[in-house]
Amino acid sequence: MVSEDFIKAGKIAAQAREYGRMLVKENASILEIAEKIENKIVELGGKIAFPVDVSSNFIAAHDCPLFNDPRSLKKGDLVKLDLGVHVNGYVVDTACTVEVGDTKHAEMINAVEEALKEAIKIFKPGTKIGDVGARIEKVIKDKNFSPVRNLSGHEVGHYLIHAGLTIPNYNNGNQTELQENQVFAIEPFATTGDGIVIEGKPAEVYGMINEKPVRDDNARMILAFIKENYKTLPFAKRWIAKKFNMLKTNLALTSMERAEIIKQYSQLVERTKKPVAQAEHTVVVAENPIVLTK
Ligand code: MN
Ligand code: MN
Repeated sequence: MVSEDFIKAGKIAAQAREYGRMLVKENASILEIAEKIENKIVELGGKIAFPVDVSSNFIAAHDCPLFNDPRSLKKGDLVKLDLGVHVNGYVVDTACTVEVGDTKHAEMINAVEEALKEAIKIFKPGTKIGDVGARIEKVIKDKNFSPVRNLSGHEVGHYLIHAGLTIPNYNNGNQTELQENQVFAIEPFATTGDGIVIEGKPAEVYGMINEKPVRDDNARMILAFIKENYKTLPFAKRWIAKKFNMLKTNLALTSMERAEIIKQYSQLVERTKKPVAQAEHTVVVAENPIVLTK
């Protein structure tokens, strides 16, 4: 049996994603889009599992709008909205790709959506993980795009976004069989580039890596707030700055990063700077696979 909390989180995430899709328009502020989606998640009774990403064009993932981010969308931008919701710690993860006022990337968007659909069809107990990757790879290559090979789907868990096993976007030969009731995010990425992402600019998103005490009062206060509110889940600098102001936030995060208590994530960019599309659902392995974020 799948936890009711997973089911509830899935419904909230799906609603928040579809709401977000409507916000992707020419001249829309990416910070406003992220904040509106985050507010929607809370309004619907969920908690934010990680800061909403609004990644455009050759930025494949992890472009999380910054505090006071001035950027807005332009006609032709290929926008990946990626969001996570948890209920009592049970995390779901979903994403979609929207093109701003244009259709020149419609086939690439179609390729990732089709690849996701095909992967879900075989997401049954006993299916080999490599075979899921092979299915994704075939759909994307048949449409003359390249899968992104070093981004993958992942098992989700209790207060964990990346828990254990991964689902590749190509056949990596993994013979491990899926087991009933395992829960995974499946996320095909396609590109017209060579399909490898590298780290880009810092994302101003952080996660806890080590439990260690801090010396100064300011950092101690902020660390307590982080543990209380986000536990092991990623958080945005802008969330902390809203609560404590930017100066205190910068001092605390810098010292905690130096002490290796937290680490900062980076944007992930396609290395040949070609556009990338993504689709993502969280799915329960079953004879009739259950798409939680439908
Ligand atoms: Mn995601
Ligand atoms: Mn994911």
